[in-house]
Amino acid sequence: MHRVLVTGGSGFLGSHLCERLLENGDEVICLDNFFTGRRKNVEHLVGNRRFELVRHDVVEPILLEVDRIYNLACPASPVHYQYNAVKTVKTSVMGAINMLGLAKRVKARILQASTSEVYGDPERHPQSESYWGHVNPIGPRSCYDEGKRVAETLFMDYHRQNAVDIRIARIFNTYGPRMHPSDGRVVSNFIVQALRGEDITLHGDGSQTRSFCYVDDLVTGLMALMEVEGPDAHLPVNLGNPVESTILEIAQAVLALTGSSSRIVLEPLPVDDPHRRCPDMARAQRLLGWSAQVAWADGLKRTADWFRRETILE
Ligand code: NAD
Ligand code: UDP
Repeated sequence: MHRVLVTGGSGFLGSHLCERLLENGDEVICLDNFFTGRRKNVEHLVGNRRFELVRHDVVEPILLEVDRIYNLACPASPVHYQYNAVKTVKTSVMGAINMLGLAKRVKARILQASTSEVYGDPERHPQSESYWGHVNPIGPRSCYDEGKRVAETLFMDYHRQNAVDIRIARIFNTYGPRMHPSDGRVVSNFIVQALRGEDITLHGDGSQTRSFCYVDDLVTGLMALMEVEGPDAHLPVNLGNPVESTILEIAQAVLALTGSSSRIVLEPLPVDDPHRRCPDMARAQRLLGWSAQVAWADGLKRTADWFRRETILE
């Protein structure tokens, strides 16, 4: 049993993680400033005596007695992280410094939710952890990409300088129930548009690719990474599903599943939108013995069912 802090715990990934940690028998402190997270994502956990909800911004320091920290606090969708770009950098950088300082002080193991965005618009395919990336330092995505890159730097420096016990997960596109219906990420956007009979907004010609992982798989991977031991455990690890699809294929799959009569309309490709993205999963396989299990068709159906129940009613 661990005493676990989950920053960003009332967001999409964080709420699923809190749930699974409680199922595991852990004590969970969910910390959030509710920028993109919602109380209703965790309200079903509030009655559990091993669960605590704390309103706090990771830009400010905090002292809590814990032995595991999952640092997830950061808006993840382009619409939200570009809403206040300076705040996004502060959340990644100051948040990492504050949580690493806490980990050092209370001798907790700490995991950073990093991202495939550290590879930018990649020139190598698929992306392995040894690739340093191709990131624009001054574009509209930089606040997120560079913020996460500095956070990785801080994690490695606290590890080298202060022997902090770190884990770094480079998370690839993840989807599932509890994505914010208006956060603009592609799977949630297309499902909501299809269910409402609105136009499906396809950016560019839809030939750009992503590799989508179902949230339950991702959470299993995060928990496995947190508990793995060994000389390479502090190195960044890709977590994702290596099945690659074009965004046009995603739009077509959503239309077929929902039976929607929505039209696909083309919109300009956003600046610096990566052309291809797919994780090399060799390190995760070797270190964790983990790979994604949920097939796209199954995950998409579960996600659309949830949106049908939740979103349309709002
Ligand atoms: P999300 O926006 O649903 O969750 C982020 C949570 O962090 C929200 O609850 C939000 O309120 C909270 N938060 C934001 N700024 C904060 C601050 N300053 N102090 C305290 N809390 C703050 O996003 P998500 O998809 O659940 O992503 C969780 C983490 O995983 C993020 O760090 C994100 O960068 C990373 N990640 C997610 C994906 C993905 O596909 N979902 C991919 C790569 C990386
Ligand atoms: N996208 C799209 N229509 C939308 C939202 C997103 O075509 O309504 C595209 C987007 O331009 C990108 C891909 O889908 O090429 C994935 O976008 P998302 O924001 O979900 O993730 P990220 O770009 O951060 O990987």
